[in-house]
Amino acid sequence: MTTHHATLIPGDGIGPEVTDAALRVVEAAGVSIEWERVEAGADIFLKHGTPLPDEVLNSIRRTRVALKGPIGTPIGGGFKSANVLMRQALDLYACVRPIRTIPGVPCRYTDVDFVIVRENTEGLYSGLEHRVTTGVVESLKVVTETASLRIARYAFELARQQKRPSVAAIHKANIMKLSDGLFLECARRVARDYPEIELRELIIDNCAMQLVTKPEQFQVLLMDNLYGDILSDLGAGLVGGLGVVPGSNVGTDCAVFEAVHGSAPDLAGKGLANPTAVIRSAGLLVGHLGETDAATRIERAIEAALADPKNLTGDLGGKATTRQLTDAVVRGLEA
Ligand code: ATP
Repeated sequence: MTTHHATLIPGDGIGPEVTDAALRVVEAAGVSIEWERVEAGADIFLKHGTPLPDEVLNSIRRTRVALKGPIGTPIGGGFKSANVLMRQALDLYACVRPIRTIPGVPCRYTDVDFVIVRENTEGLYSGLEHRVTTGVVESLKVVTETASLRIARYAFELARQQKRPSVAAIHKANIMKLSDGLFLECARRVARDYPEIELRELIIDNCAMQLVTKPEQFQVLLMDNLYGDILSDLGAGLVGGLGVVPGSNVGTDCAVFEAVHGSAPDLAGKGLANPTAVIRSAGLLVGHLGETDAATRIERAIEAALADPKNLTGDLGGKATTRQLTDAVVRGLEA
């Protein structure tokens, strides 16, 4: 059996509880991973003056793959987001979030199945803000042709690989004519190389409405950093909430897998958080390592566990603890 090497960042809040659950599931799936455990986040900021010490980035550069728990970011002042710093430092340019209804998870829809592909390195997350004069600030949205072409190509390649018939480019180019205009133009240029895939163009506000009224029409949604952040949470809401949606941040050299949700400080330490999103993120990691059979078994085991109402955690309307749901997934894998 091959032993893989990967970095583990437990993170803040519920992070340690849910990443522990994911490690148990990976082990039960028979995948051997030697985890290099490193710390990032709020506590580390207090000790080291940075939420993302070099040791963390160096570990990921070495192992090329990481499972990351959520890391909180203070609102307003405080330190810069470790998540944004990491994505920029490792050039994890594509944020990929599969949004799919899972049988057994209570939600309003039955047949949602699309993937959000979010540009992860620029846009309004460039961090370029300044005060012009008292009471006036500016925040710069940076859009480059290189990054826009690269993320559009990622979205079309994913659509081709997963045999999905359309990519919808989400924008606000009617107002942000230059920045979103360039993003859209790049999507059109890349689309010419994929004649079998339809390029759809939707203004973000219309897209938000259609996601709620007819989500089953979407296949791949391509968008910039901020739109991707917001619509990811909306997408999670369509399929059962933040507790169930996994994600990956992919670059040319490394990939970091993490849930869409944050550190949920209200639940931290109580053993009540839903571990599904992080377990599914670990499943994506396992697939990325080439263990595709184990990845499929992990996804099936989660589905089977969630099909039984007594395994549902509080966010899904049930009473199960993090451990009870994890035990059920592990039992399913060992059966
Ligand atoms: P952060 O500042 O790290 O983004 P946050 O609390 O603002 O944290 P989230 O953690 O993303 O934002 O989630 C908002 C709320 O959704 C949480 O307070 C929690 O009640 C719920 N939630 C999020 N993730 C989970 C989970 N895995 N299990 C159960 N509830 C969750």
